[in-house]
Amino acid sequence: MIHQTEPQSTDSRNTGTPRRVLIVGGVAGGASCAARLRRLDESVEIVMFDRGRYVSFANCGLPYYVGNIILDERRLLVASREMFRERFNIEVQTETEVTKIDRNARTITVRDVRTSNTRMERYEALVLSPGAAPIRPPLPGVDRPGVFAVRTIPDSRRIRSWIADHSAKTAVVVGGGFIGLEMVENLVHRDLSVAILEKLPQVMPPLDPEMAIPLMEHLVAKGVLLHLGDGLARIEERDDGGLVVVAESGGRLPADLVILAIGVRPETMLAKDAGLEIGPRGGIVVDAQMRTSDPNIWAVGDVVEVQDVLTGQEMVLPLAGPANRQGRVAAESIAGRATHFRGVQATAVVGVLGLTVASTGANEKGLRRAGVTSFQRVYLHPGHHAGYYPGAHAIHLKLLFAVPDGRVLGAQAVGLEGVEKRIDVIATAIQFNGTVHDLAKAELCYAPQFGAAKDPVNLAGMLAQNVLNGDMPVADWLELDRTDALLLDVREPDEFACGHVPNAINLPLSQLRSRYVELPKDRDIWVCCAVGQRAYFAARFLTQHGYRSLNLSGGYTTYKALKAAGLAP
Ligand code: FAD
Repeated sequence: MIHQTEPQSTDSRNTGTPRRVLIVGGVAGGASCAARLRRLDESVEIVMFDRGRYVSFANCGLPYYVGNIILDERRLLVASREMFRERFNIEVQTETEVTKIDRNARTITVRDVRTSNTRMERYEALVLSPGAAPIRPPLPGVDRPGVFAVRTIPDSRRIRSWIADHSAKTAVVVGGGFIGLEMVENLVHRDLSVAILEKLPQVMPPLDPEMAIPLMEHLVAKGVLLHLGDGLARIEERDDGGLVVVAESGGRLPADLVILAIGVRPETMLAKDAGLEIGPRGGIVVDAQMRTSDPNIWAVGDVVEVQDVLTGQEMVLPLAGPANRQGRVAAESIAGRATHFRGVQATAVVGVLGLTVASTGANEKGLRRAGVTSFQRVYLHPGHHAGYYPGAHAIHLKLLFAVPDGRVLGAQAVGLEGVEKRIDVIATAIQFNGTVHDLAKAELCYAPQFGAAKDPVNLAGMLAQNVLNGDMPVADWLELDRTDALLLDVREPDEFACGHVPNAINLPLSQLRSRYVELPKDRDIWVCCAVGQRAYFAARFLTQHGYRSLNLSGGYTTYKALKAAGLAP
């Protein structure tokens, strides 16, 4: 069942603002918590610990530092220890690891990383923001020199040095998710020849398989080798000192360096040792005010479990936006305010060698996994701006919505330009419980170089409205080989000759009005064109002439993606 999290009322346990707040982890969640708390309360003592040398650095910028897009390492440092002290009166202790929490005594043990000396620190409130560590599977060779994960500034510095010192020419990136793809982009930018080894049959798991196809085609067109549906078995060393990534299939991929980007795991060791509740997804359980099972301990960022506002399911979502917002919520909670975290809808974007891939809300895989059946989907491929203005590029867009109320459940988009803007609009609509009718009505920017009088977001809403109100019933692509409907392709013959859905007949839209009587009235007619627009015109015409016609959403463009993803015959 789909449900939305409800705001929680002020927590009665909050009896007074703590005077000494300790924060473990000084990057996205920890630093934003510290700074917000100071803005709310000048009198509280705030001490932030990080075992690394830096706090408040831009982990999201690390791949671009490897790629020489960001040339000066100092640009990655958003705020320094000195800035925290001088501007906010926040004490930052770097190279100081928190090794233990004593909940009864309300103390933590901290260890100076340089000297290994330990000491105790007392807290009234404790905030955990230790993040998530890259997964290093226990496989032979993963600790060899030349095999890297990307989490810290020193990690990216080491990769840069390795590329320079070894005149690296080839790289294998294990894992085709966000960080893997960002590393691919940046290694290609460094003129390395890059291969991706990915266990799933697609890259970018948040996308439904057919939506990942344009991305995979783009990667291949840019010279990236894709080894999909194949896991990592081990990493060997070559005689010349290079590496060989050996896949589970036995395939061997030579590489001068290897990036492990197979996901991250919440750093819950401290929390577990202290007996804090850990959820089924492996993150710390928190309430809507980011409080853990201990009323004096809050947790934020990659280490916590959050609720998916669309499916109601718990998940871990290692993204910077939620971490920052959760840090703020925790600070407000500590300061006695009743702010709540609304949960997540997994809005995300990644740029891959000129292509933008973005998504928000549920995907079809997730809905099915959650047992949601009352939804529909439309595909469309509009230009990112008006077609008459030079340089319009298609946005491949999939919109998922609830039936019958039309609530927007999720969207995925892939294209060269204007992608994230559309997904951000749809994300905002989801946040406000918007429906496809709201998308159809949305008043958005338009000038020829930016959009269209009917923006792709409006179009997506209108198509979905047409599905809901019966103006454009859609046929299910996945039923293509089981239907006895007549498959009618209304593109021009030259387009049809270049490829079409199996068993389709061709009757171009331009001839439909004069030849429609040739079509049978006793069978459903599933209408297809290039992207769905002409099929919609044809289906409307046929319906009004007494035919039972359904649209194959997204047309032949979508069919090709579904077929490439193994979803259509
Ligand atoms: P972190 O930012 O990881 O900070 C945790 C800190 O805690 C670390 O500095 C760690 O050293 C410290 N620590 C851990 N344990 C202890 C301890 N016991 N004692 C003391 N200190 C400790 N997200 C996006 O939304 N968009 C992006 O484009 C994006 N790109 C990314 C690219 C890369 C390469 C990486 C690694 C992440 C990226 N992310 C991105 C994810 C984003 O950076 C994280 O979601 C976010 O930083 C999480 O914040 P956090 O505070 O939970 O943890």
